[in-house]
Amino acid sequence: MSDRISFALNATDGTARAGVISTPRGEIRTPAFMPVGTAATVKAMLPESVAATGADILLGNTYHLMLRPTAERIDRLGGLHRFMSWDKPILTDSGGFQVMSLAGLRKLTAEGVTFKSHIDGSRHVLTPERSMEVQRLLGSDIVMCFDECPALPADKARIAESMRLSMRWAKRSRDAFGDRPGHSLFGIQQGGLEPDLRAQSAEALREIGFDGYAIGGLAVGEGQEAMFSVLDFAPDMLPADRPRYLMGVGKPDDIVGAVARGVDMMDCVLPSRSGRTGQVFTRRGVLNIKNARHQDDPRPLDAECGCPACRNYSRAYLHHVFRSQEIISSMLLTWHNLQYYQDLMQGMRVAIREGAFAAWEDAFHATRAEGDISRL
Ligand SMILES: [Zn+2]
Repeated sequence: MSDRISFALNATDGTARAGVISTPRGEIRTPAFMPVGTAATVKAMLPESVAATGADILLGNTYHLMLRPTAERIDRLGGLHRFMSWDKPILTDSGGFQVMSLAGLRKLTAEGVTFKSHIDGSRHVLTPERSMEVQRLLGSDIVMCFDECPALPADKARIAESMRLSMRWAKRSRDAFGDRPGHSLFGIQQGGLEPDLRAQSAEALREIGFDGYAIGGLAVGEGQEAMFSVLDFAPDMLPADRPRYLMGVGKPDDIVGAVARGVDMMDCVLPSRSGRTGQVFTRRGVLNIKNARHQDDPRPLDAECGCPACRNYSRAYLHHVFRSQEIISSMLLTWHNLQYYQDLMQGMRVAIREGAFAAWEDAFHATRAEGDISRL
C-alpha cells in the first residue's frame, strides 16, 4: 500500500457519494461512521469488537488524551494505535471544541486558548502549533486543524469574527503540520448558518489546501432542519475530489440526511453513550430496554441484526442485566448500537453504488415509522 493518503470517489447517486480513503493503515469505506474512543477506548468495547462491527476508523480526543495520560507518555509507549491496540486508522480532533465545552477558566487570544483541566485544575495552553504537536505525538492518521467554536446563539458579527480567526489558525495548523507522508490534515469550514460566511471560509481553506475538509460548527443545538439547510449548500463549496467530514453527527436520520447531501464521514458518541443508558437503535426506531414490556420477551432486539446481543440474547435477558446494572449490559448494548450504525453505513454504500439511494432512503424512513415490534 502507498505511504500517501488518497481518496477515490467510486460512485455518486444524486448528491450522495460512495468511495474509499486509502491510508497506510488500511482503507476507509465511505460514507463512514467513526465510533468515538475518547480516552483511548470505545467504552465497554474491545478494539477487535469495534472492528468486528465493520468500523474502519476510530476517533480519539486530543483534549482528553493531552491531559491524561498525556501525548508525551503515549508517544513514549509507541503511539496511540499501539497503546490502545487498534491498528486501523485513527482521526483525532484538535481539542478546540472540548476546551470550549469542558475546560474551566478559558482565555481566548489570537495566539490560542489558555485553560484549566477539568480533571485536576492544572493550566494548559492550546495553540494551532501545540495541537499539531499533540496530534503528531499521538500518531493520528487524520489530523484536524485547530479552530475556534463560538458558543451559540451568537450574532453574525461574532460568527464572522470567529470564522476569520479559525481561518488564520487553519493556515498556522497547515504550516505547523508540514509534510508528513502517510498522515493527512483536514481543514474545517466555519460560518454558522450563513451562506456568505461559509463561502468565504471554504475559499480560505481551498487557498491553503487540505487533504480533506470538515463542516464544523453544526450539531451544536441548532436542530436538524437548520443543519440540513446548511448541508444543502455547504458541501458543494468544498472540493469534490476530497473527503467531506461532518463533525459530531449524529442520530441515524441525521446521518442519512447528511449522506444524501454529499457528506462522506461522520462521528458521534450517541451509539456508544446510549448503549450505557439503555437506549437501543433498531431498524424500527429507538427502544428503551429498561421498559417493563421487555421483561418476559424472548425475542432479540432486532431480528435482522447479526451482533452478539441479537444472536445470543433475548430482550428479557438484556432488560434483566440492565436493571441489575451488570457490566455485560453496557458491553452488549454498545456492541449492538455500533453494529446498527455500521450496518446503516453499509446499506447506504451499497445503495449509492447501485444507484438506488432514494429507494433505500424511503425504506429506511418507512421501517422506522412502523415503530417497534408489538408487545407479546
Ligand atoms: Zn444487534
